[in-house]
Order: sequence, then structure tokens, then C-alpha cells
Amino acid sequence: MSVHVHVRLNDGYAVTEDGQLLERTSCHCGASWETFFQVDEGEPENI
Ligand SMILES: [Zn+2]
Repeated sequence: MSVHVHVRLNDGYAVTEDGQLLERTSCHCGASWETFFQVDEGEPENI
């Protein structure tokens, strides 16, 4: 068996009510991620 390595395909961006940039990514296996970016500070924040 080989270990599956997720491929993060970009599903697009959105802006939250708080003004954060939300990046949606997903893998063909069904896994998905949401990454938030503080636009003001430019630092990633995972929730
Ligand atoms: Zn995957």
C-alpha cells in the first residue's frame, strides 16, 4: 500500500464578514481545507 498524498486543488476564495480572506482547497479524494488569512496583518490563521 502506498500512502495517499493530498493534492490541494484551489476551489476559490471568499471574504468573511470579519474581513478575512478564506481560501478553499480540496483533494480529489474528498478531503478539503479552509485557510483564513488576516488581510490586515497578512498572517495565516487556522480555525
Ligand atoms: Zn487526498
